Order: sequence, then structure tokens, then C-alpha cells
Amino acid sequence: MIGTQRDIDILVSEVGPRDGLQSIGNIMPLADKKAWIDAEVSAGAREIEVGSFVPAKLLPQLADTAELVAHALTLPGLTVAVLVPNLQGARAAVRAGAHKITIPFSASETHSLKNVRRTHLQMLEEVRAVATMLREQPVAGRPRFEGGMSTAFGCTYEGAVPADKVVRLAEALMTAGCDEVGLSDSVGYANPQQVKQLVSRVRSTIGAQAFAGLHLHNTRGLGLANVVAGLEVGVTTFDSSLAGLGGCPFAPGATGNIVTEDLVFMLESMGLRTGIDLYKLLGVRKILRAALPDDELYGYVPAAGLPLDYISASSADAAVPHRPAVA
Ligand code: ZN
Repeated sequence: MIGTQRDIDILVSEVGPRDGLQSIGNIMPLADKKAWIDAEVSAGAREIEVGSFVPAKLLPQLADTAELVAHALTLPGLTVAVLVPNLQGARAAVRAGAHKITIPFSASETHSLKNVRRTHLQMLEEVRAVATMLREQPVAGRPRFEGGMSTAFGCTYEGAVPADKVVRLAEALMTAGCDEVGLSDSVGYANPQQVKQLVSRVRSTIGAQAFAGLHLHNTRGLGLANVVAGLEVGVTTFDSSLAGLGGCPFAPGATGNIVTEDLVFMLESMGLRTGIDLYKLLGVRKILRAALPDDELYGYVPAAGLPLDYISASSADAAVPHRPAVA
């Protein structure tokens, strides 16, 4: 179908197989994960974060990440992304052949200490070590290296995180050797005004080309409002999770990541091409439903169905008829 990034306006980066699955207790079998990734790629997904190279003891849900990377690499046109917490994880990602690696870096030092037991200085040291290791790889096999700044919009331990600090840390990540920096609202604290201000400041400091995108959670229902705010200041990549998988352990009923189906619906309705066929995408939920019968699946569009005369920006065939809701 579509082979390059140029024919789309917005890159929707699916993070459900990593962020969604790491947040739920049930372990999805490898065959189901593969079926999910296959189906989402055939719906038009261009980038999927398939897992995380963390010790299986810590996250048994993601223990098969290397196998998933190997499988995902067979899918043409797909950017295969993984999360890596440290140098050891980055080495595993390079061995596996991932196209993109993201190291989480918490803007809140308290969160960083609780999560990875490292201070900012120690984490920056780790980022430098990863960057050095990557520079030693042949250019052809070298993954793109993103610093994913979590708690950039607020932290459950520290509360407000000063924008000055986020800007300074984004610069520090670039200096330490990241190719790009993205901002994450890990706990759903962001509001649209804050998104516009912080993204503008970070982009103008590190350069628009080095701004990786936004990773938003819908914990307080502002996920898509924050996407629109991001669009208004030029963001072209957004992370999301199919069915908002993962939920939020601190807010029952609230989705985790923004819901891929709702995000694609909004963008396509606004005339922004994602390259994703929404009908096919809605069908992928069946794989999640069957593999995770006890976990909640979220999404407004899947529940309500598409509006009559819904028009997809990615589709050449103008209007498509209303279809019933997909379970
Ligand atoms: Zn997240």
C-alpha cells in the first residue's frame, strides 16, 4: 500500500504492545501479540513499540520482546521500536535489530529514583554510554535513539514540574547523545495550554527536527484535547494504545494511553492523513478481546460506531457508510 512517511500527515505510533501490556497483570501469549501487530500493520500502522528490554523478572509480560522484534522486522514498511531502561537493554535492542530505541528519562528526580533508582546525573551518564555504544555500530544497523521524557507535565510524587527544568533536561539529553527527545504525560496531568507552551519551548530549544513527539495518557480525559494542542504547535507524531489498553491503576475507569481508534478517528475527520484504515483498525480489537478476556478495552468510537457519512482523509473513496459498533 503506502511505503513512505511522506504520504501521511501524522504518524500514529502504537505503543499498546509495550505500554498497554506492561500495565496489566495478564500475560498475552506471543502468538496473540504477533497477530495483533500483523493486523495493525495491515490496517496501516507505520510504527509500533513492540516491547521493552527489561529483565523478565521485572516485567514478565514483555519477556518475549526479542522474538517480537524479530517477527516485526519481517513486516515491510514498519518501524520497529522498543523501550530500553539502560545500556544493557540498548545492547539487546541492537542485537535484536530494532529500528528505534527509547530510553525513559523522568523529569521528576523523585520519580526517577523510585522507578529506576537513578538520579538525573546517573541517568545522563547511562544515556551517554548508550550513545557511545550506538556510535560504535555500523551506520546501517544503528537504531534511532530517543530520550523519552516522562513526567514532563507533572508527577504523582513531586506535583508540578517546572517548564524550565524540562527544557534544561531536554537539552541535556541531546548533549548526552540522544537523536531526539519526546515528551510524555505519563500520569495524565497535562492540559492543552501547558502542552502548547512546553512543546513550543522544547522545540525551539532543541530544534523542531529533534522533537520526537508526544506520549499522552487520558487519565483525566484530556488526552485528545492535548493532541489538538500539540497539532497547533506543529507536533506530527503521537503515541497511542489500541483500546487504551492498560488502564490506569490510580484512576479506575480511566484509560491509560490515549486510544488509537479515537485518535485516528479525530485526525482523519480533521483531514489529517494517518495512513490507517479505521475499519480495519477497529477489527484488530477482536484479537485483544479474545486474548485478554478479563481486561477492559476502552474507546468512544468503538462503542458508538462511526458517524453516518464519515470521511477518512487517508481514503481516496470519499464517503463510507455508517457501520455498527465493533465490540
Ligand atoms: Zn505511557
